[in-house]
Amino acid sequence: MHITFYGVRGSTPSPAESNRRYGGNTSTVVLQNGHEDPILLDLGTGLRLWGLDMPPAATVDATALVTHIHWDHIQGLPFFGPIHRRGSRLVVYAPEQDEGPLEDVFDRFMRPPYFPVQYAQLEGDVSFVSVKDADLEINAAKVKVRPVPHVGPTVGYRVDWAGSSVAYVSDHQAPPGLDTVADSVLELCDGVDLLIHDAQFTPEEFVEKSTWGHCTMEYALLVARLSGARRLCLFHHDPSHTDDDLDALHEGIRAMDHHNGPREIIGAYEGLQIHL
Ligand SMILES: [Zn+2]
Ligand SMILES: [Zn+2]
Repeated sequence: MHITFYGVRGSTPSPAESNRRYGGNTSTVVLQNGHEDPILLDLGTGLRLWGLDMPPAATVDATALVTHIHWDHIQGLPFFGPIHRRGSRLVVYAPEQDEGPLEDVFDRFMRPPYFPVQYAQLEGDVSFVSVKDADLEINAAKVKVRPVPHVGPTVGYRVDWAGSSVAYVSDHQAPPGLDTVADSVLELCDGVDLLIHDAQFTPEEFVEKSTWGHCTMEYALLVARLSGARRLCLFHHDPSHTDDDLDALHEGIRAMDHHNGPREIIGAYEGLQIHL
């Protein structure tokens, strides 16, 4: 499996000179295996960059696994060049919403006066599948969907494809004591080759924002340890963390005792590619 990170930031796009190396685009990861149809993890503003990577007239046939409907996870859809071309097809999996079917929720987010084009008016075909707790087969990939604690309906995904596995837990509300992990999350991450996990806060920031839906980097490491994940990728960086901040924070996590921990800890950045 080939994994490319196009957006690694949480909450809001945050381009700045001080975070050029890690990047300011929001959650977008692309999974590929040879010529099989790609699988997207979230539709953040990094999605635009994936479109720019393609030839000028390219169309796509892809599946998007969306964790939840917060802006930072869907805002890239209208700016994804290939979806404006006839022949493109995107099937979007996302959690059930109390506000109604996903078609209605996306239609309310993407319509005038907020954006001039409704999703149904795009040249490409966009369709939706609501999920909550499911085991799916998407082409040759096995996909596990489980609820993840956050703010509002949220899921995580595990993709087993081409002999390797990735778990994606982008936004994860830790408990106040930062000491236990939901069984649903541990099931997603069990022995996975690569865990891409929320790493939004420092411990000091978590004290101030303990109910904002996120966790600390140390908590991400705890999830990796308890689940036996082989590699941990720290993801969904806080918009206020500069490149230098992230370098130092990630070094600090790597320096912690790795007894029974992942064999590698990676700080996600725009353009990062991982082969499994
Ligand atoms: Zn988010
Ligand atoms: Zn969120």
